[in-house]
Amino acid sequence: MTRPPRALVLGGSTEGFAVAERLVALGADVVTSFAGRTERRRAPAGHVRVGGFGGPDGLAAYLEAEKIAVAIDATHPFAARMKANAAEACRAAGVPLAHVERPAWAAVAGDDWREAADVSEAAAMIPATPGPCLVTVGRQELMPFTARTDLVLLLRMIDPLAAPFPHPRAEILLDRGPFSLESERALFETRIVGSVVAKNSGGAAAEAKLTVARERGLPVIMVRRPPRPEGLTFATPEAAVGWAAARIGL
Ligand code: NAP
Repeated sequence: MTRPPRALVLGGSTEGFAVAERLVALGADVVTSFAGRTERRRAPAGHVRVGGFGGPDGLAAYLEAEKIAVAIDATHPFAARMKANAAEACRAAGVPLAHVERPAWAAVAGDDWREAADVSEAAAMIPATPGPCLVTVGRQELMPFTARTDLVLLLRMIDPLAAPFPHPRAEILLDRGPFSLESERALFETRIVGSVVAKNSGGAAAEAKLTVARERGLPVIMVRRPPRPEGLTFATPEAAVGWAAARIGL
């Protein structure tokens, strides 16, 4: 019996989950790939594999070995290396690739955003405020904040750090989105948050902190998205699924 055409979803985002679920519902054979950074993954329908491929060559070899007919990059907007690897590997293996990328957030009237090129620049830009700085960049890129011993830091992340964070006044908040407006308002109020550092991830799940910062007139240090490879890009999982389904004849 021949199996249906196999789709590879590079996951690690809400969009990746939605793409896999929808493609499976349409009858596709789907494998979702995770980097393995997060311990509590939400596994979508279909197959799941975890861990790096070994660069673009490793991914190209995987595409061929697994007879992947179509690939969808639904990694986080800041997963720049994986996006570039996907573009290179799919080109080499002749596998059609599309990216799913949710639109970036844009400042609106009342926002006090200060744009940073990367997390290091963001850490250096945090202004001195009476209340702590809420840092929401994930746990992989926290080292630049160790230099800011002049600040109290509230470091929010999904999984705990492997070792204590080397900072005299940092507190870890373990939590995972989606974050509601009510819960963010309560956090900012009880902790008297003074500033926020965020990556411009876009999407609804992490947006409430920006609304609350606006309500309270707080500065937000916003890390710009890294450049990504050119190529077919959809703003929604639905659009990417429509494209992929057509490519594999569903
Ligand atoms: P990255 O810097 O672009 O990727 C580093 C390496 O991790 C890649 O070269 C690849 O290793 C491996 N990798 C990344 N995504 C993978 C996937 N979906 N499946 C298999 N291997 C993967 O990305 P990152 O910032 O480490 O992010 C890793 C994952 O976390 C991504 O899936 C991303 O969607 C998710 N995530 C990232 C952020 C963020 O802010 N960066 C936030 C939320 C979620 P090989 O070269 O060995 O193949």
